[in-house]
Amino acid sequence: MASVAMDLLQKYAPVVAEHLVTVNATTAQNQLYGDVDLGGLSWLERTWAAYYIWMGNPVLATGLLSFLVHEVVYFGRCIPWLIIDAIPYFHQWKLQPNKAVTRAQILKCTKVVLLTHFTCEFPLIYLFHPICCYFGMSTYEVPFTPLPIMAAQIAFFFVFEDMFHYWAHRALHWGPLYKNIHKLHHEFSAPIGLAAEYAHPLEVLILAQGTISGPFLYCLFRNDLHIFTVYIWVTLRLFQAVDAHSGYDFPWSLRHFLPFWAGADHHDFHHMAFVNCYSTSFRWWDYVLGTDNKYHAYKARVAAASAKDRAAVEKKELEEVEAEGLRAERLAELGGGKGGMEGVKHGKLE
Ligand SMILES: [Zn+2]
Ligand SMILES: [Zn+2]
Repeated sequence: MASVAMDLLQKYAPVVAEHLVTVNATTAQNQLYGDVDLGGLSWLERTWAAYYIWMGNPVLATGLLSFLVHEVVYFGRCIPWLIIDAIPYFHQWKLQPNKAVTRAQILKCTKVVLLTHFTCEFPLIYLFHPICCYFGMSTYEVPFTPLPIMAAQIAFFFVFEDMFHYWAHRALHWGPLYKNIHKLHHEFSAPIGLAAEYAHPLEVLILAQGTISGPFLYCLFRNDLHIFTVYIWVTLRLFQAVDAHSGYDFPWSLRHFLPFWAGADHHDFHHMAFVNCYSTSFRWWDYVLGTDNKYHAYKARVAAASAKDRAAVEKKELEEVEAEGLRAERLAELGGGKGGMEGVKHGKLE
């Protein structure tokens, strides 16, 4: 079967066929690691090299690994949230307790996410190896980057992605872009983890630039980035995105220990109120530009209520914020969106 497919490819798409040719393990080891002492490396680095030797084609090896990392991490992080949502004990920490997700919604969300992953993300991820090589990133090479440098690189990627996402996300709230692209993601006014990548293919492409441009920009200025570091970064970024859509804020959630971390508390409010909290990982862009005013006003009103009345006040506030959010969404759909500035005037509520 594989050889028939290869014959057809060689006949009709020789360039593609050429890139899929594999070599045996001895040739791969000599070509890729001829001058490397593999015995002196860590277990992880040796496993990495063994994988590239076994695959016998670095482009194919990177493409498949990149896609697998994305799928395993994304769904591996979503499934625990589906289990948590099915256990009533955890509902006390639900950000919008008045909302419940249906089986039909989960099924539709899974279908859209899988369709986007296989049609839109797979070709891009497959091309990742040649793109990485073009920008000077290491792929099959070992050893990996030392841990302190890796940590600094990932910190830069987080800050860059957060900035990119803030502005791109606000642009997606501009009337025509919202109506034609971003509206799909906002179908969930109370999101679930699985909905992190429930979005129009164009939105996936636009917002993915924030995740991958940081590494490419870094490569342009410094030539010491390894794709293994990028996998760690993508893993952390997927954890951040899925958790931000989880709909839960636990007392042990990261934002309680890192006050500038956005978390689900911040992004859930975006899905509910529509016009606040545009960033991904951190709170500083929204804070400095006043696009978290409704969020803070809502929090202050709930905090001001007495312990006895808090649940009732929170319920009423949630309903009002959501109703206001729906009005703002309708305005954006009618073309009146101002790139996410509805309801914000000189940092105050209109
Ligand atoms: Zn949005
Ligand atoms: Zn979202």
